[in-house]
This record gives sequence, structure tokens and C-alpha cells, in this order.
Amino acid sequence: SREWHLLSRPVGWPKPEDFALVEAEIRQPGPDEVLVRNMYLSVDPYMRGRMSAAKSYVAPFELGKVMQGGAVGEVIASGIEGIAPGDHVLHFGGWREYATVGAAQTVKVDANAAPLSTYLGVLGMTGLTAYAGLLRTASFKEGDSVFVSGAAGAVGSQVGQIAKLKGASRVIGSAGSDEKVKLLVEEYGFDAAFNYKNGSVSEQLREAAPDGVDVYFDNVGGDHLEAAIGLLNQGGRIAVCGMISVYNSTEPVPGPRNLARLIQTRGRIEGLLVGDHYDLQPQFVQEVGPWVGSGALKYRETVVEGIENNLEAFLGVLRGDNTGKMIVKL
Ligand code: NDP
Repeated sequence: SREWHLLSRPVGWPKPEDFALVEAEIRQPGPDEVLVRNMYLSVDPYMRGRMSAAKSYVAPFELGKVMQGGAVGEVIASGIEGIAPGDHVLHFGGWREYATVGAAQTVKVDANAAPLSTYLGVLGMTGLTAYAGLLRTASFKEGDSVFVSGAAGAVGSQVGQIAKLKGASRVIGSAGSDEKVKLLVEEYGFDAAFNYKNGSVSEQLREAAPDGVDVYFDNVGGDHLEAAIGLLNQGGRIAVCGMISVYNSTEPVPGPRNLARLIQTRGRIEGLLVGDHYDLQPQFVQEVGPWVGSGALKYRETVVEGIENNLEAFLGVLRGDNTGKMIVKL
């Protein structure tokens, strides 16, 4: 069985030399463990944070050891009551072909109810992030004008569509290519979208949001955040979900220069961590599941094949190679 190890902590953009794909023994499961043959691995922006030694909400990856991440696979052997060989499970033993994982981090999933990869994306962690971040952190309400960055990505594409389905007055998205912008408007039903690489974010946002912004869902940080604060309406809310524009920065980056606008607007900025919102999971699945099933909520996945391409897939997320959830298929 092959697995990916972190060899050294990347400075700036991760380099291939910081990682190694190594052979490892398959360990039979003990009581309350399962052995899983991984089928789909998740690569996510937050993993960049775990490659650094800095203290955060989740411990750094250990050097010289296998990395972790979301994964879905088939159970080969089981010591967990209620889980049998042939069942499929969602767990946290990613970045490897076979994983032996404990009951506490293993959830059975139904391969007949939805494609297995969706438990990592539209019906999984990124989906719940969108749902909880929009409805709870940003206190979205019908009639709000919503701006979301990273809008063609896993979280962003779902934020925009949920807002639309729940009666947003206007949904605006930004993304890093003209093709992604087209997808947002023509397929996902965004009212307006722009390519942040084509010019000033604040100017493009001003044009796209003539009535201002009630909710900004931030996946990006930097000039996007400043632009959204600049157009924030009275009582506006900003959910800080991610700041991917700074994940590879080696120096602290300047913050928004216009925070005083929060006084005028009584605006609110609040960070969100999906791990705090798993109480919403049943409600999320109940509401969003049927939308996904009926096609009312559309999703894309970018699928990269092979464990040997796991690292490239991860780097691809940071570069913007993906449209929708980036998945590694084994
Ligand atoms: P995505 O599927 O959105 O992939 C990341 C995207 O970020 C890329 O496709 C790329 O698209 C865009 N991007 C990369 N660099 C930049 C840049 N400098 N400026 C603007 N956009 C950039 O990933 P996820 O949906 O998984 O995650 C989206 C965000 O949500 C991330 O910031 C992530 O860290 C955060 N997150 C936070 C969680 C939480 O609990 N707080 C949970 C899950 C995700 P493009 O081509 O448009 O540039």
C-alpha cells in the first residue's frame, strides 16, 4: 500500500521535494477499527495550513509520517459493530491507498443514495461549510444580495446556489477564469460574475453589485475582502470561511484598509469553522440532498486519477485547476 508523507515543511508554495510517496504495510483492524480500501480522496486548501508548524485549530501534519484527509472507501475487514466488509465508509485516513481507522472517525455511507465522491463534496464537508456559513454565520435571509468569492470552487458554487434557491435578491460570484465565470452565470444561475484576474476587484464588484452587498462569503481574503467591505450595505454580514490568497504567503499581508466602514454600516465580520456546525448535518442533508438529486443544485467535480497524483491534485486546488470539488480517484 502506498501513502504520502510530509518530509519538510514548505515555505511559500509547496515543492515536490517536501513530500514522498512511500510503501507501507497494511495493518489488520483491531477491535473498533476497520480496514478500508480507499476509492476517493479529498484534497482541500486547509491542508496547506497543516503542512506548517504554526498552531491552529487542527494539529500540524507530522514530518516523516502519513498525512490525513477525508476519504471514502470500501471496508475490507471490520472490527466495528454494524460495519461489514463490502460497506462503504467516510473517514479521515486519506493520502493513502489502504487505511486502518477507528470507529470515532468512521461513518457509514450509502453508495446507492448518492455517488460516493459526493460525500467528500456537495453532500459532505464542503457542502456543510457552504450551508452553515451562509445560513448561520452570515445569517442569510430572503432578499439579501450575496457576493461569494472562489465561486466556481466546491464551497463557493454551493453558497451561491443555496442563496439563490433561498430567495437572494442577487447573487454575484468571482472566479479566476472566463470559463468559470461563464459557468456561474449560465449553469449555476448567478445573476452576475467576474474574473478577478481581469482587473480591479472593487471596480468589477461595484459594477456587478449596483445595490451593494448584504452578505459576503469570503473564501479568498485580500483585495476581495476590502472590496466587499467597501460595498457593504447597512447591517451587512461577512462570513470569513477561507483566505486562500494568502495560504502560501511568507510575510503577513496587509489587512483591509476600510474597516471603518463597519461603523457606518454596523457591519459584522465573523469567522467560521465547519467543525463547529455538525449539528446542522441532518438538516443540511435533508434540505440540500433533494436539490442535488433533482438537479436544482448543480455541482461539478474535477477528478484526478491515481495515488501518485494526489500531491499534484492538492497543488492544483491552490492554483485553481479545479472546477467544483477536487477529488482523487484511486
Ligand atoms: P475550492 O474548490 O474553492 O478550490 C480553491 C479555489 O481557490 C481554486 O479553485 C481557485 O479558483 C481559488 N484560488 C486560488 N488562489 C486564489 C487567489 N489568490 N485568489 C482568489 N482565488 C484563488 O476549495 P474549497 O471549496 O474546498 O475551499 C474554499 C475556501 O473555503 C478555501 O479558502 C478553504 O480554505 C475554505 N474552507 C474553509 C472551511 C472552514 O471550516 N472554515 C471548510 C472548507 C473550506 P480560481 O480559479 O477561481 O482562482
